[in-house]
Amino acid sequence: MSSDRTHVHTGCHPCRCAPDGESVYVSSEFMNTQPMQVDVAIVGGGAAGLATSIFATRGTRGQTVVILDGAPRLGAKILVSGGGRCNVTNRTVTESDFFGGSRNTVRRILAAFPAEHTVSWFREIGVDLHEEEHGKLFPNTNRARDVLEALLREAERGRVRMLTGHRVTAIDRCDAGFRVVTPQVTLGARRVVLATGGRSLPKSGSDGGGYGLARRLGHTLVPQTPALVPLVLAGDFHAPLSGISQDVELTVRGAEIKALRVRGALLWTHFGISGPVVLDASRHWLRARLEGREVHVSLNFLPGEDASSTDRVLLAIAAARPTARLHTALAGMLPARVAETILRDLKVDRSLPMAHLPKNSRRELARSLVAWPLEVIDSQSYVRAEVTAGGVPLNEVDSGSLASRKCPGLHLVGEILDVDGRIGGFNFQWAWSTAWAAASAITRSAGAPL
Ligand SMILES: Cc1cc2nc3c(=O)[nH]c(=O)nc-3n(C[C@H](O)[C@H](O)[C@H](O)COP(=O)(O)OP(=O)(O)OC[C@H]3O[C@@H](n4cnc5c(N)ncnc54)[C@H](O)[C@@H]3O)c2cc1C
Repeated sequence: MSSDRTHVHTGCHPCRCAPDGESVYVSSEFMNTQPMQVDVAIVGGGAAGLATSIFATRGTRGQTVVILDGAPRLGAKILVSGGGRCNVTNRTVTESDFFGGSRNTVRRILAAFPAEHTVSWFREIGVDLHEEEHGKLFPNTNRARDVLEALLREAERGRVRMLTGHRVTAIDRCDAGFRVVTPQVTLGARRVVLATGGRSLPKSGSDGGGYGLARRLGHTLVPQTPALVPLVLAGDFHAPLSGISQDVELTVRGAEIKALRVRGALLWTHFGISGPVVLDASRHWLRARLEGREVHVSLNFLPGEDASSTDRVLLAIAAARPTARLHTALAGMLPARVAETILRDLKVDRSLPMAHLPKNSRRELARSLVAWPLEVIDSQSYVRAEVTAGGVPLNEVDSGSLASRKCPGLHLVGEILDVDGRIGGFNFQWAWSTAWAAASAITRSAGAPL
C-alpha cells in the first residue's frame, strides 16, 4: 500500500512540535492530501481500531479517518480468534465477566453498546451470528475471515484510509492536535485513538509498543501479565495424560486472594494444562504471582462432589461390586488413563478389589479426587496468551467517551486498557463497546476545540 515512497515536506502547521520544513517520507497515497492533516488518526487496526474507524465515519461522513498499523495486514488476531471461527460476542455480557478496571466503569461502557447492539450491527454489515454453548456467538458461516472482511468492507465504505506496514514510533501533542510519526510518514491529526492492543500474540503486531506511546502522552500503566493462557506444571503427572480432555473444577486460592472456582473442560498437555477452564483461571494465578502473593491451584476431578460424597460413592461401589478392581471402579468415574495415573501417583495398588480397600486409603483417595494440588510454575507467555491483563488504568479515561484524562484529543480503546475478559467473546465485546463510545464522542465533537 505504501511501497511508493516520496520525499516531501510535511507542513504540519500550525503544529508547533513539527519543526518548519522538516523532511519526512510520505506514502504516495498521501501525496494528494495536502496539507498532511487528518481529523482522526487511529493507531492500530485490530478489532477496536477497525470498529472505531467504522463508527466514526458513519457519524460524520466528512471526517478524514486514517488507520496506521505496523502489521502488513489488518486483523491477524480476528482471523485466528475462536479457533478460526471468531467468537464475536456473548449472549449475556456484564461487568462481572471482566477483570482489571472498576466494575462500575466497565458497566457504563458496556451499557452504551451492549451485546444486542453488536448482534444487530454485525447483521447490518452482513454477518449473522448464531449462539453456541455458554452463550457464545459465532458467525453463521463459522469463518473468522467473514467477520474481518465485513469490517474491512465497512471501513472502505466509510473511506477510511488504511496504512498497513506503518508502525507508529512517536505521537506528540501540539496546538492543533497531534503529530503522528512512522518511519514512512508523519501526519498531523486533530484527534488520535490508541488501539494498539496489548502484548498477546506478538507476531500479530501487538507487542506492547502502544504502552510506550500512551506513557509518552502522560498515562501510567498497570503492570501487565498474560491472561487466558495455558499453564505449565512442575513434575511429570501431566505428561502421560497429554491429549485427554475432561470436565473438572479448578480452584485458585491463596492467603490474600478471594478463592476462584471455575468449572469446564481441561485439556492435559505435554507441558501442563490448557482448555477453557485453565485459560480462565490463568490470569488469577499470574496476577497473584506478579503481586508476590501466595497462590495455590487445585483440581476437582469430580465437579460437584466433595470428599464425603466421593467417599460414599466409593463405599457404594465396594458394596455393590466387592471384587471389582480399583482401577476399573475409578475408570467408571474418570477417563481410564487419568484413573491409572492418579493411582500410580498415590502409590495405591490398581488391582486391589474394592472390598479390600482400607478405610483410610479410601478416604485419602476421595480427598485427592476432589482437591488434587497442581504445582503451576509458569504460563505459556504472551506467545500463547489470548489477552493481556493490565495496561492503561481505566480511571485515566472518561467512561462516556474513552477520552484520555491526561491528554486532550486522545482516546484509548480495546485491550490497551486495563480490562481483560474471561473466555467466551467478552474481549471482542470490550473492543466493540469501547470503539463505539470513543467514535460517538469524536463525531459529536467534530470540529469543536480540543
Ligand atoms: C488466539 C486468540 C484467539 C482469540 N479468540 C477470541 C475470541 O474468539 N473471542 C474474543 O472475544 N476474543 C478473542 N481473543 C482476544 C481478542 O482477539 C482481543 O481481545 C482483541 O483482538 C483486542 O483487540 P484490539 O483491537 O484492542 O487489539 P489487537 O487486536 O491486538 O490489535 C492491535 C493492533 O495494533 C497494531 N499495533 C500495535 N502497536 C502498533 C504501533 N506502534 N503502530 C501501529 N500499529 C500498532 C497491531 O499490529 C494490531 O493490528 C483472542 C485472542 C487470541 C490471541
